[in-house]
Amino acid sequence: MLLAEPDDMNNIVEAFARVKRHAGEFPNHKAARNGARDPARPVGSFTVPTGFRSMDSLACWTPHRGAVSLTFDDGRQSQPERAMPAMDRLRLRGTFYSNPSGDDWRGRLAPWSEVASAEHEIGNHSLSHVCSSNLFGRSGGLEDRSTDNVEADILAAQERLRDIAPHQSHWTFAYPCYQTFVGRGATRQSYVPVVARHFLCGRAGGEHGFANYPGLVDLACAHGLTTDRMSGFEMIGLVEALATKGQWVILVFHDIDGSRLTVGEYDFSLLLEYLARRADEVWTAPVAEVARKVADFQSSQSEQPGRP
Ligand SMILES: [Zn+2]
Repeated sequence: MLLAEPDDMNNIVEAFARVKRHAGEFPNHKAARNGARDPARPVGSFTVPTGFRSMDSLACWTPHRGAVSLTFDDGRQSQPERAMPAMDRLRLRGTFYSNPSGDDWRGRLAPWSEVASAEHEIGNHSLSHVCSSNLFGRSGGLEDRSTDNVEADILAAQERLRDIAPHQSHWTFAYPCYQTFVGRGATRQSYVPVVARHFLCGRAGGEHGFANYPGLVDLACAHGLTTDRMSGFEMIGLVEALATKGQWVILVFHDIDGSRLTVGEYDFSLLLEYLARRADEVWTAPVAEVARKVADFQSSQSEQPGRP
C-alpha cells in the first residue's frame, strides 16, 4: 500500500536529497554522524535546514524548558471551591472558561469575579455552549449553525465576560466540546477563522498524549488535553514527557471531585505539588500569557533571514 501519492513521494524524496546535500554545512549533522553532540545545543532540540520551520522548541521557553496551562471549563462550582484555593496556596494561576448564559448570569458568575481578581485568567467558552447535535441527541447543534451565528453567540458572551474581568486585556477562547465546525457534509466548514479574528488563542482538543510545539502551533486552534478521570501520576507523567521537551501542555479540567468529567482532589493536588516543585523548568501560566510568548516566538522565527 502506498503511504503517499506519487507527487507527494517525489516531494519527499527531493526534500530528503536536499537535506542530505546540505548536511555537511551543518556542524550538528557532522557531530551526529560522528556520535558526538554539540555542547552548545540543548538535549531534545534540533534545527532543520533553511526552507523548513525551526523545531528548536526549547529556545521559546528560556529560562524554562516548556510550559503548562491549567484550564477549567463550564464554570463548575468545584472550581472556585476546590481548584482555585489549592492553586492559590502554591501560587499557580490558571484559565477559567465560562458561559455567561441565562438571566441570572451575573449572580451565577459572581465567584468568578474573585477568580479574576486573584490574577487567574477568565476565558470565553461561548454563550450557549453549542456542540454537535449528535453528541446530545437533539437538533439545533453545530450542524445547523452558520459561522455568523456562532460569531454572534461568542461576541455576546464576550460582552458579559468583560464585566467579570474588566482589567483583562488579552482574551482566549475554548471551543465547546472541542468542536471547531459548523454545518454538515459538503457544506461543513471550520469556525477557527472566527476565533482567530477575535482572540489571541483558541483551545481545541485532540489525541491523547500530544501537546503544542511553539514554532508550529496554530494559536487559533491549540491542542488541549482532557484530564477526565486521570490519576495524578498520569498527569505528572504527561507533563514530564512533553513539557520538559519544549512543548506547551494545555490540560483541560471540568470538576474537581465532581460526579462527571472529573479529577479527584488528591490527584489534582499531586499535580499542583509537582508543578510547584518543578517551577524552575516547567513554566505554569494562564493560556493568554503563554500564547503571547508563543506569538512572539513565532514572529521572531519568521523574521529570521531565509525563513519562508
Ligand atoms: Zn464546555
